[in-house]
Amino acid sequence: RARKRFGQNFLHDQRVLQRIADATGVGPGDHVIEIGPGRGALTEVLLDSGAHVTAIELDRDLPPILRARFFNRPEGQFTIVEGDALKTDLAALVPGDDPLHLVGNLPYNISTPLIFHLLQYHQRVRSMHFMLQKEVVDRLAAAPGTGDYGRLSVMVQYQCHVEPLFIVPPGAFTPQPKVDSAVVRLMPRPDRPLDGMDPKHLSTLVRLAFGQRRKTLRNNLKRHIDLDALEQAGIDGTLRPERLTVEDYLALARAVTEIHH
Ligand code: SAM
Repeated sequence: RARKRFGQNFLHDQRVLQRIADATGVGPGDHVIEIGPGRGALTEVLLDSGAHVTAIELDRDLPPILRARFFNRPEGQFTIVEGDALKTDLAALVPGDDPLHLVGNLPYNISTPLIFHLLQYHQRVRSMHFMLQKEVVDRLAAAPGTGDYGRLSVMVQYQCHVEPLFIVPPGAFTPQPKVDSAVVRLMPRPDRPLDGMDPKHLSTLVRLAFGQRRKTLRNNLKRHIDLDALEQAGIDGTLRPERLTVEDYLALARAVTEIHH
């Protein structure tokens, strides 16, 4: 039985599974970390590609099932870790500094915090491919000026190139989720443009800027920053927050020295 509290919707559509594995582009010698392997549907196609897979699963009932399913794989090709991906140091799971490929049909109830947790490892991460609610993929990939563009878009796009790949209907899962899903590719930007700035500074600023979407930037920010910074960054304060590009937010974060809460 699937457990709702763990966000369990197991994939059973073999074509979708193969399509995800193909999209990852992984093969022999690659290191994959799979978040939430469930009963191993995706794990199996990843292992068939020849990649090494280290899977992390929260539901304690599942690792024995996975060990039994993959016991005949070559020594060391499959490793299962029992635990909470949100609280796990992923880089430590694969010793050394080989690049990591993160893959997962993520539990939708924690997908946003999970993405932020995973982004911390961007220096070692070569690629990320995730199944998410389509609505979350829309927000991740949104362009400025659109209704989906917000804090999540800015905070992910400054670190990654985001590419929505394909939509997956509820019928591909058991039990069926109530919403459409989509697979997204996140490729860490080598030029992550923070220049030593604390990511929390940007994150706080973006959160305050999007405080009320219908208000202007100036009105959202006036109690929190010295508004001269807008001018310094070359940004029109009468715009609504969704009008600013990711580069605008970075420029603003550089110009703002102090944020009052
Ligand atoms: N990959 C499998 C598939 O496609 O059939 C299962 C996907 S299911 C949507 C999400 C999986 O993540 C479940 O197996 C669930 O138990 C696991 N999970 C939920 N929260 C987790 C967490 N915090 N850390 C690790 N795994 C978690």
